[in-house]
Amino acid sequence: PQLVNQIAAGEVVERPASVVKELLENSLDAGARRITIEVEQGGVRLIRVRDDGDGIAAADLPLAVSSHATSKLVDMADLERVVTLGFRGEALASIASVARLKLRSRTRGEEQGHELLGDGQGGFEGPQPTAHPEGTTVEMRDLFFNTPGRRKFLRTERTEFGHLETVVRRVGLSRDHVEIRLLHNGKPVFTLPAGEDQAVRERRVAALCGQAFLEESLHIEHSGAGLRLHGWVARPSFSRSQPDLQHFFVNGRMVRDRLVAHAIRQAYRDVLYGQRHPAYVLHLELDPALVDVNAHPQKHEVRFREQRLVHDFLFRTLHEVLAETRA
Ligand code: ADP
Ligand code: MG
Repeated sequence: PQLVNQIAAGEVVERPASVVKELLENSLDAGARRITIEVEQGGVRLIRVRDDGDGIAAADLPLAVSSHATSKLVDMADLERVVTLGFRGEALASIASVARLKLRSRTRGEEQGHELLGDGQGGFEGPQPTAHPEGTTVEMRDLFFNTPGRRKFLRTERTEFGHLETVVRRVGLSRDHVEIRLLHNGKPVFTLPAGEDQAVRERRVAALCGQAFLEESLHIEHSGAGLRLHGWVARPSFSRSQPDLQHFFVNGRMVRDRLVAHAIRQAYRDVLYGQRHPAYVLHLELDPALVDVNAHPQKHEVRFREQRLVHDFLFRTLHEVLAETRA
């Protein structure tokens, strides 16, 4: 299965940033409240993600790294209403096929932790007992050491770290109640404070998108027809020359979606006339049964089952808020 995994890994693991994305999604799915990400050499040499989530029981450690094994879906009906970020059971298996992997974990019920080591060539050692607090630490070393063809496509340390940091920032925007720390080559890059009150949310948005964005933005909080939209949209005067400040989350999952982009663009266009790129951080929440997340291997795209409803809700809500800026 090593070859199969390496092919599958091509879909999931492109660069250090994609590894971090998968590991962070796993930590969030495990209900983590604190996550620490330590990175060396842009993530090529080391990525270590430690969380305080539910942990993986010793007996399940080998399953966690086998392909198509997920603990998150039990039957087909679950696939119709996915509530976790992961559901394919491919990420750890893929990473284990292109790098050395060390999993350490302890669940709430266990007296001690266990670890499993992957040599990156299909071999695994363990699980064996080890000291570990409740939660999980996943350590990936030497990305693509066994696939030189892939390694060749990696960019400079700085570029790779830039991509990785962008991923961490996006994840940071998706969950206000999770403390996230990032370190590069032993130096702290940032710590995002955790909390659900408005002051903390604002500090996080300012830390992640800049104080200017926050000051030039309107806060949105609107519910209707079973949908909820909340977050920030920049005033038309803050629109950007590039679409670099556009963050949209559906049930906590970052999404790039045409229907969403269209609804937002229409709302801005109506108010603004001129054409540049709006800046926003928006969260849409709706019944998971109304969203199909199984549309893309990297899970960036979704399909709404009620397209019209979602489009109109977004358009009307944003239009109303933006129109006030003209008054
Ligand atoms: P998926 O997330 O699609 O289920 P992964 O390959 O990312 O697949 O992870 C495989 C399994 O390993 C998960 O279903 C989960 O049971 C377990 N797992 C991975 N990371 C963690 C973590 N940080 N905390 C708890 N369980 C984890
Ligand atoms: Mg996963």
